[in-house]
Amino acid sequence: MNLLFRRFNNDWDIEWVSDMLALIGDFLGTNPKTDELLWRHHIDGQFSVNRMYKRDLATIAGKKSGSWSAIRKSVAPTKVKCFTWLVTGRACLTHDKFQKRGRIIASRCYLCKEALETNNHMFLHCKVTTQVWALFTNLG
Ligand SMILES: [Zn+2]
Repeated sequence: MNLLFRRFNNDWDIEWVSDMLALIGDFLGTNPKTDELLWRHHIDGQFSVNRMYKRDLATIAGKKSGSWSAIRKSVAPTKVKCFTWLVTGRACLTHDKFQKRGRIIASRCYLCKEALETNNHMFLHCKVTTQVWALFTNLG
């Protein structure tokens, strides 16, 4: 080991330097390879948007017990599939999401003006939405 000191050591530094050298004496050095970022979700460590997209889909599909698969296989137009995916993944930008991101916003459902705007309220529990759902379910 070849150490360079920025100044000459004084007599009272010898014990400290000796302890330091004993401490680092067994250190073999770092890996000679240069540092690089590795994406831990793939075996080769390489990141790509496609890989991240597939990973996220697999995660969401696992959490929703296959709902993504059902959405993907439906005959609905792509924009409807995407919107359905956002709703089931609770990814729509509702007021509660803005509040979680630090936005100061008075939240009230635009449809009924009665409740906090959340994903579940907007698409499940709102009295206006339930009327729309009733229309669709009565059509079939
Ligand atoms: Zn509402």
